[in-house]
Amino acid sequence: MTSSDRSSVGSSPRRSVGGFEGLKFDNRFTRQLPADPEISNERRQVTGACFSRVPPTPVAAPKLVAYSREVAESMGMDLADFSSPEFVRRFTKIFAGNEILKGMDPYAMCYGGHQFGNWAGQLGDGRAINLGETVNDRGERLALQLKGAGATPYSRSGDGLAVLRSSVREFLCSEAMFHLGVPTTRALSLVTTGEKVMRDMFYNGNAAYEAGAIVCRVAPSFTRFGNFQIFASRGDNKTLIQLLDYTIATDFPKIDALSKSKTEKYTLMFHEVCRTTSDLMVHWMRVGFVHGVMNTDNMSILGLTIDYGPYGWLEDFDPMWTPNTTDAQGRRYCFGNQPGIAQWNLLQLANAIYPVVGDAKPLQEGLEIAAETYKSSWQTMMAAKLGLQSFDESTDETLTDRLAEVLQLAETDMTIFYRKLANVPALQTTPPSADDCIAVLIDAYYLPEQLTPEVKTQIADWVRDYQKRISRDASDEDQRKRRMNEVNPKYVLRNYLAQLAIDKAETGEFSAVADLLEVLRNPYAEQPSRESFAEKRPQWARNRPGCSTLSCSS
Ligand code: AMP
Ligand code: MG
Repeated sequence: MTSSDRSSVGSSPRRSVGGFEGLKFDNRFTRQLPADPEISNERRQVTGACFSRVPPTPVAAPKLVAYSREVAESMGMDLADFSSPEFVRRFTKIFAGNEILKGMDPYAMCYGGHQFGNWAGQLGDGRAINLGETVNDRGERLALQLKGAGATPYSRSGDGLAVLRSSVREFLCSEAMFHLGVPTTRALSLVTTGEKVMRDMFYNGNAAYEAGAIVCRVAPSFTRFGNFQIFASRGDNKTLIQLLDYTIATDFPKIDALSKSKTEKYTLMFHEVCRTTSDLMVHWMRVGFVHGVMNTDNMSILGLTIDYGPYGWLEDFDPMWTPNTTDAQGRRYCFGNQPGIAQWNLLQLANAIYPVVGDAKPLQEGLEIAAETYKSSWQTMMAAKLGLQSFDESTDETLTDRLAEVLQLAETDMTIFYRKLANVPALQTTPPSADDCIAVLIDAYYLPEQLTPEVKTQIADWVRDYQKRISRDASDEDQRKRRMNEVNPKYVLRNYLAQLAIDKAETGEFSAVADLLEVLRNPYAEQPSRESFAEKRPQWARNRPGCSTLSCSS
């Protein structure tokens, strides 16, 4: 088989040249933006620069745990190469940071951020090291970033490392989100380092050694709101303008092509960030994802889900739920707060660029765009989840408000509920009994004893109203079911599923990570042999750390 024959593997139209020779680097970020002149790897405040050059710290004995076929293909790699042990060895070496390819230019970015509502000053890539930016055959820019690759000038009191459990979580969730159609940074690879990392997992004084790991993240850009905030906070308009002009030229080429003034372009970029961020929130609400740490340094300028830490998936529908133990008191980043927090974060970005826009009005307009986008996208999304042709405000506001109440009457698995809802028929001549209404949805309920006659009546009332509504919609039953199943996933990265894969990976058995990735590659399809992955959280996982709540220790 020649390499051009092999390029037909998968759906990629690209021609692979095999090995790593096809990776073309075009490091615009380091070429066009001001660099930290200091090259020592001492922790420090870095001013007047967007990044510091720093190489990954080599690791003792890297081992490949898993990789994403789609990401490897999008980079122009040949999937057939992964059957060669020699290729895998080199791949592992490169994406563990032990080999720097010609054309790479490793660096850590400087950024700041608001953490839990308070300005935290300089943060930066404390354990992420960008290897460089590749451009694939479709002309797409893909920045490669190793998370957990060693200390940088931005490491503050951290060690620059990451442990296996949190790296498995980042790897799987990045790819799961992509397959769900949720904008996200991607994950090419997950390797263990062969080194131990000390962590106090519960923040309770019981530190222990855990396996170290590195994820190679891939995204068109890793720029965050905090990259702009840091310069504004220091009154450094010069670097702020350089970063804005660079970002518009690189990440917002359509805006760059308009014949507008620079200030108008800054505003248009902000408006676009308002739109994409709001759409991202709608996606998170659709699939039941809770980020857990929506600090402004964890907000992507491209509206991507970024920085998978103590995130979680909503199991029983509870808008107040947060997976992050650090947030258990205030619940600032709980499921239901996410859209409001996104608005707050956008306001901080507006504040950061205000000094160079010089006029609050267009920025205020951006925040209004964000609110309107959220409202209209949310309505479209809810109509789709319910299988309606469109959202009719006159009836569907009440219908969805009441649904949110109904989902909280008893512990209800959000994912299973919507999947089963697709089986509810349009209203027949005789309205169904309460028991009939519940029977279709019964799998979604965690505690049958909570289904008291009173609760059943309320659920059934809503179901009958829903049946009336879909009857009025007059769409074909099968078509409605198909449409609903295209937006209501069957398989999500349930917290306990990730934990089971982690438990196995920690014993050196990596196949569970690959198996779970396989399931999550088709989240909307029925996968009859994999029904167990769609089951609601088992009783043992209810309070087990990692399955219900997580600390930021990673
Ligand atoms: P996060 O809460 O993961 O978004 O991290 C906030 C900041 O802390 C970022 O600047 C990270 O790079 C940094 N950070 C987190 N963990 C570590 C670590 N183990 N070593 C160095 N820096 C870290
Ligand atoms: Mg972060």
